[in-house]
Amino acid sequence: MRIKKKIVIANWKMNHGFYETTSFIRNFMKKIFEEKINHKKKIIIAPSFPFLHIASQIVRGTNLQIAAQNISFEEKGAYTGEVSAYMLKSIGINYVLIGHSERRKYFLESKEILLKKIKIATKHKINVIFCLGETGEERNKNQHFSIIKKELYNTIFHCSSNEIDLIHIAYEPIWAIGTNKTATTEECQEIHQFIRNLLMKKYGKCVSNNIFILYGGSINTENAGKIFSQLDVDGGLIGSYSLELENFLKIIRS
Ligand code: PEP
Repeated sequence: MRIKKKIVIANWKMNHGFYETTSFIRNFMKKIFEEKINHKKKIIIAPSFPFLHIASQIVRGTNLQIAAQNISFEEKGAYTGEVSAYMLKSIGINYVLIGHSERRKYFLESKEILLKKIKIATKHKINVIFCLGETGEERNKNQHFSIIKKELYNTIFHCSSNEIDLIHIAYEPIWAIGTNKTATTEECQEIHQFIRNLLMKKYGKCVSNNIFILYGGSINTENAGKIFSQLDVDGGLIGSYSLELENFLKIIRS
């Protein structure tokens, strides 16, 4: 039987300034160390770019991790406004979100761009939290399995067996993100198991057992426990409910 620590990731998106970021992380650390819950789950917080350095300094020496919400697909050079894998690594960042539906929608990130981002992150030994999921229309037409399969083959299935060790998958149905419509526990388990089976066929049992498959999409204080208890759900990616300290703590405790 697989015994894995669950991973909980806070995706703060474009929220929280310097003061909110630093005070949240300090207060959060105080609470989780007092309650000794930091060892029960692996916790990763993804603040905005300007605060990654200070955030990574605050958590240094603890088992909390800081993630970037984006990464450049190029190594270096004339790419105004971009942040490279080397830059992230140089300030102690070991995790990055790639493929979030908001980046695909608003910044038109194609599968080619996403694959380049995956390759550059893994080259710099940065763990990737790769997000994928179907639209509401695709689910209604019962196309979600084929969409997910195609997405895996177009992106992370191009990873070598070394690169795949740095990949975490976040199944995030687009219809559930920021909508208060969560997938049912059965829907989560069904698609997570489907993803794990595809991983087993492609990379074998060891990779498919060890890889983290997280769920994201309107997780809140009420539904987190039930979702996390599913066999193939290795944790969650939390958006709006990670912005407020007490809510995020409740999710961590669940
Ligand atoms: C997300 O954007 O990754 C997300 C899961 O958001 P929310 O929890 O707000 O649905």
